[in-house]
Amino acid sequence: MHTLLDTPAEDLLPGLLPLVPGLALHTLRRIQAAVFRNHGAYPAGLPEISPALLGRLAAVSPLPALRLLDRRTSPRDGFSKFLLRNPGLPGDFEAVSIPLLHGRGDPKTVACVSSQSGCAQGCRFCCTGRLGLARSLLPWEIVAQVLAVRAAAPAPLRGVVFMGMGEPLENLDAVLAAVHILASPCALAISAKAISVSTAGIVPGILRLADPSAPPVRLFVTLFSARPEVRGRWMPVTRRHPLPELRDALRRYHAATGRRPTLAWPLVAGVNDSVSDAVALARWLDGLPAALDLIDVNDPTLSLRPPSDAARNAFLDALRLHARIPVSRRYSGGADILAACGLLSASAQP
Ligand code: SF4
Repeated sequence: MHTLLDTPAEDLLPGLLPLVPGLALHTLRRIQAAVFRNHGAYPAGLPEISPALLGRLAAVSPLPALRLLDRRTSPRDGFSKFLLRNPGLPGDFEAVSIPLLHGRGDPKTVACVSSQSGCAQGCRFCCTGRLGLARSLLPWEIVAQVLAVRAAAPAPLRGVVFMGMGEPLENLDAVLAAVHILASPCALAISAKAISVSTAGIVPGILRLADPSAPPVRLFVTLFSARPEVRGRWMPVTRRHPLPELRDALRRYHAATGRRPTLAWPLVAGVNDSVSDAVALARWLDGLPAALDLIDVNDPTLSLRPPSDAARNAFLDALRLHARIPVSRRYSGGADILAACGLLSASAQP
């Protein structure tokens, strides 16, 4: 059932009118905006809206809510992790609050949300992948994660990244519904350009995001390796969508949207951090307009290690020599509370 948490007021009104006679669109929009200001619950009252009408609406269209099972904040870097449950369904999931400091005195918060409980993709460098898939999340469950992060955030919420548990492009209808409501002026009014969607490389989903009707979100693709045998071993999705097919989809995405995808590269010592790995990436790019995010792998079992500074620098030097691609090192915070990239497991708490 759709509610004010996951559906714009204009789409809800026709279904609500027989149940709440006299409800007008501008009234429903005001109530929706108030619900979002009130962290996802109906307000006790609203000026110029009769308590009877508000009560009738709340009775016929109750708002679901997540239960917060645990929240912890890293004393090191201020990242917070929220363990959440929909009391009506199995499968817990996590959201992360990321504090950003852009310039002096302008702190911001970004919400990192899950699109699934667990994940079926089985990437070997990721704790979530080791869980398997419990289920895909509903649109309101995604929106409610953002509300939970915003309610506790020390600074204004300015963006959302779909980089938590799960493969967003395997639950794309729900993700797009959530993006639609997050961007709505009556909800959180977060520009779609401030929303990032990350994928392991699900080609049909990338092509859907290339469609002119899709919102202009930023696309991140975890590449990990441009060597087919290495990527196939570490990211089973490569068997379904081989590297040439993925590159073709990214070319089409760039041609259709004008936006450059960002390739995420979790660096694992001895696996994908050598000069020949950088050369293979340069060859694979073959002029594809993209940016690269290097992330040191996080592994609580310590069987996977990030590269040494010397190896990382050699990788970067080779990349500069062979490819023109902007490279950033992504800080993956909250490692001490298992909130960093690849560490979400909805159960193991330090
Ligand atoms: S990296 Fe992403 S797609 Fe891969 S297993 Fe982890 S959550 Fe799933």
